Amino acid sequence: MKLFSNHASCSPSSRLVIYTARDLTNHRIKPLQRLSPERRFEMQVVAQVLPFRVNHYVVEQLIDWDQVPDDPIFRMTFPQREMLAEEDFNAMADLLRKEADKKEIQSLASQIRCRLNPHPAGQLELNRPKESEGKIINGIQHKYRETVLFFPSQGQTCHSYCTFCFRWPQFVGEASLRIAAREAQVLHNYLRRHQEVTDLLITGGDPMVMRARHLADYLAPLLAPEFDHIQTIRIGTKALTYWPYRFLTDNDADDLFRLLARIRQAGKHVALMAHYNHGRELEPPAARRAIARWRETGAVIRSQGPVLAQINDNPDVWASMWRSQVSLGVIPYYMFVERDTGPRQYFEVPLFRCWQIYQQAIQQVSGLGRTARGPSMSATPGKIEIQGVTEIQGEQVFALRFLQGRSPDWVQRPFFAQFDARATWMDQLKPAFGEERFFFEEECHQRFSGGGAS
Ligand SMILES: *Cc1c(COP(=O)(O)O)cnc(C)c1O
Repeated sequence: MKLFSNHASCSPSSRLVIYTARDLTNHRIKPLQRLSPERRFEMQVVAQVLPFRVNHYVVEQLIDWDQVPDDPIFRMTFPQREMLAEEDFNAMADLLRKEADKKEIQSLASQIRCRLNPHPAGQLELNRPKESEGKIINGIQHKYRETVLFFPSQGQTCHSYCTFCFRWPQFVGEASLRIAAREAQVLHNYLRRHQEVTDLLITGGDPMVMRARHLADYLAPLLAPEFDHIQTIRIGTKALTYWPYRFLTDNDADDLFRLLARIRQAGKHVALMAHYNHGRELEPPAARRAIARWRETGAVIRSQGPVLAQINDNPDVWASMWRSQVSLGVIPYYMFVERDTGPRQYFEVPLFRCWQIYQQAIQQVSGLGRTARGPSMSATPGKIEIQGVTEIQGEQVFALRFLQGRSPDWVQRPFFAQFDARATWMDQLKPAFGEERFFFEEECHQRFSGGGAS
């Protein structure tokens, strides 16, 4: 592809250069000079509220600047005016224009953030386990029986931030709202007490920003026999997209793969849960070399990501991405519905349209690409998949099922909601056939007080 062949700067430039909000208006990000001063000011306004961070690899090798502002990778990483409500945007723009002091800007920013549903689906109240004295264990989420999520404190940033990230509050504002653990002890004690857990998912942020020796502090102790119940180590990351040189030329890349090899030799499975949103991310030669290096270790790479307006709300984009993944040995895993948080009104796609995109994309790929499940909503009661739209006894309905449930017993039971062409999230759906509640709602209410269908 032309983007990568005629770029003088394409040679592996192996030192990561990071840009942040202040670089939106200075001259460090060279191609931004193509944009009007108004557009750059707009980006700066939005970046006071939502996290912004991008690196030279994304700027030089992933974004096609001839296509900006429509370029999908540009929309994925650079803030856009429409990501804030008009009123909020104007209020913040006024403050910047009159060069208000930092305190005033921060105070408005945190007011706006509070209106953006920063912790959807009971992230802070329902998913964090408590110790016997009722004290919350920070840095751990345990929602589905088999799998524990762990948020190491050194992994709570990324090589670039996604504009649509559902964990955006991890990167801005008040530290007390962040999910992070500093101590490996916390993790090991928890896993020791929970023999039902088979999968540990290290997540963030992006745990692949961590140095290998920090990752080893968390993972190497799990090779002891007392942790035999932990069969799979999953690592959630977007580094294959945003900084593939992490796995090629960063100075601890070899240490990282030696650690992974040790885990494998101890009989545990390593799964890289790679976040992908567009086939473009798979095109740079470095991205492909990084995938190949992971696969040499015997790790399996699985891909997941949400449907996003303006970026990938098109079946051909998904079909082509899944085909590339299969040919590179990456297994399509989940297609998500964008969550009800942050700048959702910019990215959200109706559930009906998500399902059409899924169906039309799946029809274009061979069975090996059809391992992707979805479109799936990570809602309070569980991961709910839209299986399709159909008519039953004259009523048009969505057929749904749980892929994961807060209660394991809900999984794989078909259920139905009234068809609604405009609904974008579970809390907007109503049970079909005149029923009052979905089958799981009573139990959800009793066991997880306050957790309806949202
Ligand atoms: C998706 C998810 C998991 C993993 O679910 P799988 O279906 O096993 O991939 C675990 N915990 C939470 C909170 C999740 O959202």
